Amino acid sequence: MSDKPNYGFTTTILHNDRRKSIEHNSLHKPIHTSVAFGYTDARQLASVFQGKEPGFRYGRQGNPTVSALEDKISKMEDGVASLCFGTGMAAIGALAQALLRAGDHVVSSSFLFGNTNSLWNTVAAQGTEVSFVDATDVANVEAALKPNTRLVFVETIANPRTQIADLARIGALCRARGILYVVDNTMTTPYLFRPKAVGAGLVVNALTKSIGGHGMALGGAVTDTGVFDWSAYPNIADNFRRQPSAAQGMAQLRAKALRDFGASLAPEAAHHIAVGAETLALRMERTCANALALARMLEADDRVAAVHYPGLESHPQHKLASEQFRAYGSLFSFELKEGIDCFDYLNRLKVAIPASNLGDTRTLVIPVAHTIFFEMGAERRASMGIAESLIRVSVGIEDTADLLADFGNALNG
Ligand SMILES: *Cc1c(COP(=O)(O)O)cnc(C)c1O
Repeated sequence: MSDKPNYGFTTTILHNDRRKSIEHNSLHKPIHTSVAFGYTDARQLASVFQGKEPGFRYGRQGNPTVSALEDKISKMEDGVASLCFGTGMAAIGALAQALLRAGDHVVSSSFLFGNTNSLWNTVAAQGTEVSFVDATDVANVEAALKPNTRLVFVETIANPRTQIADLARIGALCRARGILYVVDNTMTTPYLFRPKAVGAGLVVNALTKSIGGHGMALGGAVTDTGVFDWSAYPNIADNFRRQPSAAQGMAQLRAKALRDFGASLAPEAAHHIAVGAETLALRMERTCANALALARMLEADDRVAAVHYPGLESHPQHKLASEQFRAYGSLFSFELKEGIDCFDYLNRLKVAIPASNLGDTRTLVIPVAHTIFFEMGAERRASMGIAESLIRVSVGIEDTADLLADFGNALNG
């Protein structure tokens, strides 16, 4: 296969390793566990270290198995380069550490994965100012911009309330102002949406979730889409300015985030994630269909107070989601009417499992305010629209009828 033909999403992912290099004719990329990489010519070692020729130096900064996964993610996101990290949070944390300095300013959506919200507070404590805004409307982002705003950070579909950022308009705003636009694509995955299409310079994916899909390996990735002009970014250190402008951001990220902070992805985990990624499209088709069926059923039931799912016409950004995403995602959340205890409800479920991961093949449920959003307190929860009875559902690939029966029967008490 050449690189030229325009193969579909899954064909591209499946055959990418083989197109790069075939080691011992193996169809799957082997797991390279070696930490060090030896060279018969010592000059070649030096030249790899100096970046004059490609090659691996030391496992913290790069590994062939991880590199094969990075390449697949770049293909999925239509990006120019990707870097993998030990977790999704490591990817976001490393990005913040590598690209921000004290005195900078960040605008972030206030509808965020809870740990990312907490991370921005850590970043703020280190001297970068962070403004949280309702990013469902570009006007709020624009109003928050300052001369020292270095980046705007949003999620595609926010977890757990499923608010959708004003993705395209924020992209146009960032482009006009020359600001780096970072989109966390975890909830949509590159199968449902490519942030490059709305002008994102960097895309974050928590590989732990739907891309891996099996819930058996943690991982994260940052992809450079090639859209952002790094020569205009103030925080690139002099030694990375020597690279072509397109490569400067990733060169600094690799050095600072992987070499200095060491948040590297283990080759075994990279292998697990790469195997999962092959079926991303198939799983997303199924989980999105299951999620829509469940959300519709619950919305029609008068014992349910609210259902938050972009696939429902009642969702405030339903139209936006229909225009931008291939489907509406695997995650929804809902609130039970007063009088039905959410813990009792969860305990009556026989198929869905109370657990905190998402994007798993199995359907997982969690009482949000009492677990993942507990630490932030009631006031911040209220500002994020998190009801105390909110149940988040990460929909799996089970048979639709079994899920409908499970969630329906649990309402009957
Ligand atoms: C889970 C998640 C992360 C963090 O990923 P981990 O691998 O758990 O560290 C970041 N962003 C979003 C939207 C997530 O759902």
